[in-house]
Amino acid sequence: MIISPKIRGFICTTAHPEGCAAHVQEQIDYVKSKPALVNCPKRVLVVGSSTGYGLASRIVPAFGGGAKTIGVFFEREGTEGKTATAGWYNSAAFETAAAKEGLYAKSFNGDAFSSEMKTQVIDAIKADLGQVDMIIYSLASPRRTDPVTGEVYKSVLKPTGVTYTNKNLNTDKKEIEMVTIEPATEDEIAQTVKVMGGEDWKLWIDAMKEAGVLADGFKTVAYSYIGPELTWAIYTDGTIGRAKLHLEQTAKEMNAAFGEGTAVVSVNKALVTQASSAIPVVPLYISILYKIMKAKGLHEGCIEQIHRIFADHYGAAGGPQLDEKGRIRIDDWEMRPDVQEEIESIWAGVTTETIDDVSDFEGYQKEFYRLFGFGLAGVDYAAETDPVRPIPSLA
Ligand code: NAD
Repeated sequence: MIISPKIRGFICTTAHPEGCAAHVQEQIDYVKSKPALVNCPKRVLVVGSSTGYGLASRIVPAFGGGAKTIGVFFEREGTEGKTATAGWYNSAAFETAAAKEGLYAKSFNGDAFSSEMKTQVIDAIKADLGQVDMIIYSLASPRRTDPVTGEVYKSVLKPTGVTYTNKNLNTDKKEIEMVTIEPATEDEIAQTVKVMGGEDWKLWIDAMKEAGVLADGFKTVAYSYIGPELTWAIYTDGTIGRAKLHLEQTAKEMNAAFGEGTAVVSVNKALVTQASSAIPVVPLYISILYKIMKAKGLHEGCIEQIHRIFADHYGAAGGPQLDEKGRIRIDDWEMRPDVQEEIESIWAGVTTETIDDVSDFEGYQKEFYRLFGFGLAGVDYAAETDPVRPIPSLA
């Protein structure tokens, strides 16, 4: 079949297998262009490993440090008439590239929130690796089924306490409109914390502890975002921010149980991913951010960001440099005062007519298409291609 992009709101319902493979290869090439990682964990589990920050978190230790990796994700397989999701093709490409270098890689496709998935992964660790040295928790999900009660919780992206009105970029129409979002109810806040907070992260670590598959001195990292004041109402002070506070609280609890420095939250840069494109206001912020960071030579994607976690933090003598709240900050360049001052002044004046002049919407869009394997150099998009691609370890 000939595969082209089909955009529905903030997602693309098709993905290109060769394009996704090229995207994964670019990230592998970046990692291999850097010096080999020092102190790299050798057995790594990544929960949410198929796209965005989680995919980069699998590529960096594997290709930068020779780590054996297990990846968990929730993706759709392709059929004769329908493409797989991008995360499926990414994982197929990752495993194929890993196999070429003799690197162990095993994947699990299914619900990471379930007890069954935890059991399957733990069994694989016992059988193949014995134990793991690092667990990276990079899930972004709109819902979670509680493994004990079966209750389904849904996350929402809303402010808390106040009604929020701000500029929003309609990425379909390339128009700036005002968006008003009513505050979340207490129940919506609680449900978002259930989905995106630290409860499931801790369930993974507790289950692994119980099974004896955590190596002495193991480390675990989960990802968060803070961003500038102009997005606080919808992000940091919103429902998702409450969930991220819970994630930080969970890291503290894990450190009390397993020793200081075991669990860390890393605050990452705002980037185009499938998860972030669904957040109101964020696509406009990212478009302006990209323009400024590219002009200053500070732009990074997921792979550069995660490489810094391994090279500059876990690879440094003395371990990660933490902020006053115990977090890794790789959003440091995004949050530089000179960057944020420019964004604020552009934000105040940006209109539909000036989007292309003052923001990098073109870069945003290109990056969005690339998430689904479209727009990569060297890929023949007019050629027939097979949408069915096995992930070797799942075949
Ligand atoms: P993403 O959408 O690219 O990736 C989400 C991953 O979770 C995928 O691998 C997906 O398959 C997996 N997943 C979702 N539901 C699952 C389930 N039930 N079972 C198993 N796997 C499941 O998202 P992302 O932007 O890379 O986000 C990852 C983390 O990074 C999140 O915690 C997010 O808040 C954080 N973060 C993102 C940004 C950003 O700008 N994108 C910035 C800072 C922090």
